[in-house]
Amino acid sequence: MIKLYNSLTRKKEEFKPIKPGAVSMYTCGPTVYWYAHVGNLRTYIFEDVLKRVLEYAGYKAKHVMNITDVGHLTSDENTGEDKMEKGAARENKSVWEIAKMYTDAFKKDLGTLNIEEPDVWVKATDTIKEQIDLIKKLEEKGFTYVIEDGVYFDTAKLENYGRLWPNKLDIKTRARVEVVAGKKNDPDFALWKLTPAGVKRQMEWDSPWGKGFPGWHTECVVMSCDNLGIPFDIHCGGIDHILIHHTNEIAQAEAVYGGPMCNYWLHGEYLNLKGEKIAKSSGNIVLVDDLVKKGINPLAYRYLCFTTHYRIPLSFSWESIEAADSALKSLYDKVRMLKTAVKEIPAEYSEQALDYKAQFTAAIEDDLNMPKALAVLWQAAKDQNFVQAEKLALLLDFDRVLGFKLNSVKAEAIPAGILELARQREQARRNKDWAKSDELRGQAGAAGYLIEDTPTGSKIKKI
Ligand code: AMP
Ligand code: ZN
Repeated sequence: MIKLYNSLTRKKEEFKPIKPGAVSMYTCGPTVYWYAHVGNLRTYIFEDVLKRVLEYAGYKAKHVMNITDVGHLTSDENTGEDKMEKGAARENKSVWEIAKMYTDAFKKDLGTLNIEEPDVWVKATDTIKEQIDLIKKLEEKGFTYVIEDGVYFDTAKLENYGRLWPNKLDIKTRARVEVVAGKKNDPDFALWKLTPAGVKRQMEWDSPWGKGFPGWHTECVVMSCDNLGIPFDIHCGGIDHILIHHTNEIAQAEAVYGGPMCNYWLHGEYLNLKGEKIAKSSGNIVLVDDLVKKGINPLAYRYLCFTTHYRIPLSFSWESIEAADSALKSLYDKVRMLKTAVKEIPAEYSEQALDYKAQFTAAIEDDLNMPKALAVLWQAAKDQNFVQAEKLALLLDFDRVLGFKLNSVKAEAIPAGILELARQREQARRNKDWAKSDELRGQAGAAGYLIEDTPTGSKIKKI
């Protein structure tokens, strides 16, 4: 049974899919005006693990992600400057070029971090017509009003607005609220922003209300519901989306469709750097490339993310990523040693292996308890009384969720005769025949190979 913490009910709940055996999930994608930083990528790693856990449990996932290539202003409130136009001006490129360049960079980062790509990518600029249609429906139902700045959603018209907020008072403390002249209620948000007279924007479209562009909160409703149906199973994003973006998605979907948009809302906590939230706007930034430049395996960042539960803030430091990098190296050494020693992966698991698998599954299915899952992995990896072939099979199986690419770890080219000596020695040690064990070790040494005993089992090295 998979349990997930649902931000909507503020409880851990058993996951019950709408269609048996299938799961529909939507994750808010990047705004492609700059590189994704490791904070953004913590959220995408959490979502990747969620999808892998569901697949590990046998669900067939349909995963949709958007690319925000228009209409995300510097404030979530839909005020301030257009992030895309700002990025284009900074780099002396067109908005379209910026969008393409940073979409490609984002996909590359996903690959580098072994984050599975969604089944469906949708760009905001490819769904302008559908977004206009949604706004028209909201207008027909009386949820909108027009002011000089654009078309706004009247939140007072919707009973239950703000159901996702952990605390009703949050609306008073929401950061970055900027005043827009003519807005009826503070939380009202733009559905369509009109291009002011005399201004020419690089990205603007005709609409029944005039030239302009859609507000950021509309695209995700269109792309999720059009691709997954309504309601769908899971919607996720970073914790900063609860108060505004996801609240406003729910408002539009419920106003148009009259029912819930989605059953489970999951949110990942922040990654912090020097005690502050990592944010593109503050310059407090680390990119995937920075890890690579420092000689750190980017997959160590996955490892680091798994050391803290996704609903707890995580601090990034160079010490912590280096520690994760060396832990991952030890795991690779272990797998290399096992691959070198093991001839054949067993077709069936023993009870011992099944017990480890059950512990691992219980951890990941308990609201993605990855720190616990890592602990089970190491316990199995270090267990000296656990047959090597099964150990290897199990580690590779766990990697379907962890995504450390253990499959690509290569066995060392150690001669078959030496491997045989090591195997016989392992047997002798199990029988507590220390004299035989020493003799076999001596034979390997004479042939130029050192059989080393480590707390996690024996290793073979060329002398
Ligand atoms: P953006 O490109 O700004 O829309 O952000 C992409 C994703 O990253 C969203 O799901 C955000 O909630 C998430 N995010 C932004 N900053 C952080 C951070 N410091 N830690 C974790 N997730 C973040
Ligand atoms: Zn979104």
